[in-house]
Amino acid sequence: MSQRAPASCVAACHSLTGSHTGLKVQLSQCVIMRSSKEAVQSAAKEFLQFVNKGVSPYHVVEECRKRLLEAGFVELKEKDKWDIQPSNKYFVTRNFSSVIAFAVGGCYSPGNGFSMIGAHTDSPCLRVKPRSKRTKQGCLQVGVECYGGGIWNTWFDRDLTIAGRVIVKGDGRLLHRLVHVSRPLLRIPHLAIHLQRDINDSFGPNKENHLVPILATAVQEELETGSAPSGDAVGAASTAEKHHPALVKVLCSELEIEPEALLDFELCLADTQLGALGGVYEEFIYSPRLDNLHSCYCALQGLIESCLGDSLSQDPNIRMVTLFDNEEVGSRSTQGAESNLTELILSRLAYSSSNPTAFQQAVPLSFMISADMAHAVHPNYQEKHEENHRPAFHKGPVIKFNSNQRYATTAVTAAIIREVASKAGVSLQDVMVRNDSACGSTIGPILAAGLGVPVVDIGAPQLAMHSIREMCCTSSILQSTILFKAFFELFPHVRSVLVVD
Ligand code: ZN
Repeated sequence: MSQRAPASCVAACHSLTGSHTGLKVQLSQCVIMRSSKEAVQSAAKEFLQFVNKGVSPYHVVEECRKRLLEAGFVELKEKDKWDIQPSNKYFVTRNFSSVIAFAVGGCYSPGNGFSMIGAHTDSPCLRVKPRSKRTKQGCLQVGVECYGGGIWNTWFDRDLTIAGRVIVKGDGRLLHRLVHVSRPLLRIPHLAIHLQRDINDSFGPNKENHLVPILATAVQEELETGSAPSGDAVGAASTAEKHHPALVKVLCSELEIEPEALLDFELCLADTQLGALGGVYEEFIYSPRLDNLHSCYCALQGLIESCLGDSLSQDPNIRMVTLFDNEEVGSRSTQGAESNLTELILSRLAYSSSNPTAFQQAVPLSFMISADMAHAVHPNYQEKHEENHRPAFHKGPVIKFNSNQRYATTAVTAAIIREVASKAGVSLQDVMVRNDSACGSTIGPILAAGLGVPVVDIGAPQLAMHSIREMCCTSSILQSTILFKAFFELFPHVRSVLVVD
């Protein structure tokens, strides 16, 4: 078992004493050391590949699936009987939008613990309505529904496209297909400032009336097709009639199907601008969906990398990554964190005909890192953060605390993760909201309550959460990945020296 990540790839900050404390910033020992910049940038670039492909929860799971298969994980189906072997690696998906991957320790036996990291595959976005056809003032428009709590202002004046899944009828079968149109198809233009002089003081678009993207003009549609477009989808019978024919045509040509084969779909709107490195030193990531594909990527990468050495063969636990859909809307769905998915899989893995309480015994020996992004301190709004809890870029993953149980962290779970981080050479930060501020939440408390497993809530610092284009620092990818890898390798040992039973 490796106890410490190689110095060359540790973006550590142990000795950092911020200038605000009056002490000298020891830059030489801080943040991204010159020798490690290459490792930091290469991890960030690999993450960009992931996030650019993860345009919908279905695409996120498909990308995870590809990476897991490449890393030697075997795909299982919930409906099948499983034959799980020590030192082997598996994964299972539900609804094509949630995925659970696990690697069985060589020393695992039912009743031993689960070392888990959870995150979510969904992000706030606009989604195409089941009857989307609208026509106004000579413009063909697409009706969309708000999914989650996006900063909807940021969806104006962006080059938007569609991505998601489609159910296609072919040869008497119903097929599940993914679709992602790469070119800009849709746009929600701002109203000019001349027509709303107070826009810089208050801009609150009406979510039903003002967020409807434009697909085409009726004039152009008639030129292209020879017929005038029909207005709306009120009387539409078939799927193809519920949406503008031009939209259906694009989808069908991407999927190489006829319009009659299009049965149903769940389509997200997405920005066509790819995530990129930014800042004068390329120390930032500008990207959609950092919340929470950053955590999904680092958790998956941490699991895969932890299986490369020989530590898995010595591990008494099962290492597991659980990536759920629907966190942004409360996690209560077939594939959400509040579903029975995790419990069904854990109890299946802990089953023992000779020990009927193996699963119950495994629960207190298990642990979950609930990984979701944290708010970095914003230089223009520093007063929004509690004065002693202001997470900064480059200074490491953030432990989230809230006694009112918006986060599941306890002294015990924080201590465990601090111990792992210290052995891995990763610095950590603490965050707590101001008493006069609302506090976010995530899957941590849901899984803690549902499973009875100790949970710590952790996230990398980012800005502009729930904007169509968010921002974080490049070093956070490597820091989180190193921490998560170390968690899988070290947790059973750290748990064994914990005297709380
Ligand atoms: Zn999130």
